[in-house]
Amino acid sequence: MGKGDERSGIGTRKEGCYYTGLPSLVNGVASAGQEGRIARVNAKKTEGRNDRPVKAYVFVDALGWKQARRYVFLEDLLPHRRAVEMQFGYSCTAIPTILTGKRPCEHGHFAFYEWAPDRSPFRAMRFAAPFLRPKSFWSRGRVRNVLSRLVKRTYGFTGYFQLYGIPPERLPYLDYCEKNDMFVPGGLAPVKNLADVWTEQGLAWHISDWRRPEAENFARAEALFREGAVDRAFVYSAAFDALQHDNVGRDDVLRPKVNAYAASVRRLHAALLESGRPFSLTVFSDHGMTPLRATENAPAALAATGLQWGRDYASAVDSTMARFWWLAPGAEEKVRAAFAPFPGRWLSEEEWRSHGLWREDRKFGDALFLLDPGVQFCPSDMGVKPLNGMHGYDPSDEDSLAAWLSTDPVPDGVARVCDYFAVMTALPS
Ligand SMILES: [Zn+2]
Repeated sequence: MGKGDERSGIGTRKEGCYYTGLPSLVNGVASAGQEGRIARVNAKKTEGRNDRPVKAYVFVDALGWKQARRYVFLEDLLPHRRAVEMQFGYSCTAIPTILTGKRPCEHGHFAFYEWAPDRSPFRAMRFAAPFLRPKSFWSRGRVRNVLSRLVKRTYGFTGYFQLYGIPPERLPYLDYCEKNDMFVPGGLAPVKNLADVWTEQGLAWHISDWRRPEAENFARAEALFREGAVDRAFVYSAAFDALQHDNVGRDDVLRPKVNAYAASVRRLHAALLESGRPFSLTVFSDHGMTPLRATENAPAALAATGLQWGRDYASAVDSTMARFWWLAPGAEEKVRAAFAPFPGRWLSEEEWRSHGLWREDRKFGDALFLLDPGVQFCPSDMGVKPLNGMHGYDPSDEDSLAAWLSTDPVPDGVARVCDYFAVMTALPS
């Protein structure tokens, strides 16, 4: 996420306010202005129950298993460690999976854009799209960022929103998965998210705001920990993902950042100690990062078929995968033939099911072509330039592995990213 994501389609999350929850607060949501009051209320509420264990979870986007090992990340402080299988897809599906414990087929978030002519929120743009010319102007990064902000405001989206490289004329036929802020109570309704469950459990909780700079998120959590003000916390940071998209494999760039995270986590640990309450502290991630080794041109291959987008087939070409909806007889065979030279494979039905992607309504596509690790579609609907590093490949690939690193023994059953939620919401027996 971050600068890199504007081109990769993974979604950097910036700017915003905090979410600090108490059962006594309406919806458990606090605006930035309420923050100080809530911290005080929380501290007061937790008086007399300071023996209740605090469970703190720190999310570091793209701090994969390989990175944790390579940089010997906090091995002394967090000795209980495990490689974890990432959720197939990108952060836009990993985050809702972490926040609900459900798979994409249940929470409905897989990739940002999907074919949905009947429910596209952008249908009104059908009339504007033909005037969005020339193409070269709208494909400029800065223009698309301005346009993204405009669209986000116009439609009242509270989630992370980016147009990426989606051709404007296709937008009226597509739906976007992250229209709402997923972190707040009810943010993934009807599926319950972390804020919903922690509220139901009567816990004092804090979830960082994905819009805020991560240094601020760490500082806020540190202050709350020191006060003993929260029972549960989810601290969010995403800058490492963007840094790796641009600088994967560059120790001179990445090591200082990892060291900075280590220092931040040590400060959280010290604050937890200072509170006097028993605690566990866990750092986890959603995936690793795979260096670029080749690119493939999907739009050129599709153009050569003579098929028409929106009539014969619909597609969403992400950096590492292409999803298709078959609209006319014969289209599937032609597309499959056009993709035959690409290094990768079509996902089998068994894989759709095992990765939690299978839906009878085929919301996520009729077919999905996954590139081999290190290969990127370029150009794609996510952008025109390849990134030095990318994720979203086969979850079993070593570079894709996520990490669970903790002060406490790794609970049984933590094998996949979707398993985090059960641990975060488990109550002491
Ligand atoms: Zn990313």
